[in-house]
Amino acid sequence: MTTTSPAAAFARGAYPYLRTHADRAYLDSAATSQRPDAVLEAEDTFARTEYAAVHRGSSMATGEATWAFEGARESIARFVGAGEREIVFTENATDSLNVVALGLSDAALFGAPELAIGAGDEIVVTAAEHHANLIPWQRLARRAGAALRAVHVDAQGLWTIDDLAAVVGPRTRLIAFAHVSNVTGLIAPVAEVVQLARSVGALTVLDACQSAPHLPLDLGALGVDFAAFSSHKMLGPTGVGALFGRAELLDSLPPARTGGSTITTVTLEGAEFLPAPQRFEAGTQPVTQAVGFGAAADYLSGIGMDRVRAHEAELAGLLVDAVLSVPSVRLFGPGAGAERAGLVSFVVDGVHAHDVGQFLDDRGITVRTGHHCAQPLHRALGVAATTRASAYVYTNADDVARLGAALAEVRAFFGADR
Ligand code: PMP
Repeated sequence: MTTTSPAAAFARGAYPYLRTHADRAYLDSAATSQRPDAVLEAEDTFARTEYAAVHRGSSMATGEATWAFEGARESIARFVGAGEREIVFTENATDSLNVVALGLSDAALFGAPELAIGAGDEIVVTAAEHHANLIPWQRLARRAGAALRAVHVDAQGLWTIDDLAAVVGPRTRLIAFAHVSNVTGLIAPVAEVVQLARSVGALTVLDACQSAPHLPLDLGALGVDFAAFSSHKMLGPTGVGALFGRAELLDSLPPARTGGSTITTVTLEGAEFLPAPQRFEAGTQPVTQAVGFGAAADYLSGIGMDRVRAHEAELAGLLVDAVLSVPSVRLFGPGAGAERAGLVSFVVDGVHAHDVGQFLDDRGITVRTGHHCAQPLHRALGVAATTRASAYVYTNADDVARLGAALAEVRAFFGADR
């Protein structure tokens, strides 16, 4: 297990990218996070000394590699309050959400009629979703002849449990929503959504892509049916993600991808699938990345997610203050003082979001610009693009101060004050 002292984990020195670019303020962790030495070393050690095929074969090499791979699954399960059989390795959160949607669309054909969504049923999303948690449901709805209903968001991109309740009805079969918005930083009332979903017999799918890295998360206690998250946003490598599903649901959900390693028996006519998680892990898995993902979960557990959240809540306050201290900046999401995740999306009146991003980049401040894969949300905000600054464990007050100082100059630079 990879452990670290919390103090070291909050210091930039633990992260090779940040050491290499000591002059940069990296404020783009909501897009992807930087890996600490401990995670890179775990990947490297596995690749150099334990790398072999997993699950297939009876050699000692396979046994050792399988031990590391399954150990990573255990770490991730522990990290999010799941049972080991409830964590499936996927490519990323996008893939996890597609696995659920594609599986449900095949439910009637492949022995899970209780999960089938049919004509006249309803799937509910919010208008604030990342495209990864929208397009798979559009496809499922179309295949099933079901209706896709969206929860209204206000001009700040916010929605409440009452807004959701207004859309949920007796035909609602599934509610898919982000735990934390990657644009507004809004933290959804998950327990209340689960309660509402249960009251009408609907499944819940939680997009935990922006919450698993940043908040203490106990999926078992929250009671969601499925959840999706990515390794690369939580100090791990790209190429691997996780799907959480309640064990009994995963055991009956048809696998989206079929092939080797997923089956008990195959005949020329058909196949019987293994229980979860193996039924979903078709073909050779990204084993080295999975080991890195497990090391990242251990690393974050070692810091303590309460500490991570406290650090980011403080940075969120600083980010809000930095942005609001600049005249002619419009900040979206929860108002000043309200709870939000450690990110801010904003526009500077009179200057395009991409120009703001370029201006900041020229001053060594890395941010993200664009619609952040949330076009319907940006439509509701009334802008085509925003500039987003996002924090993580290694972000410090200095990074935020640099952002604030640079933003104070941006309108003058582009002549917007004249
Ligand atoms: N959902 C949210 C809220 C996200 O922020 C992201 C990543 N931007 C995703 C889903 C998709 O994650 P990935 O690209 O790792 O699949």
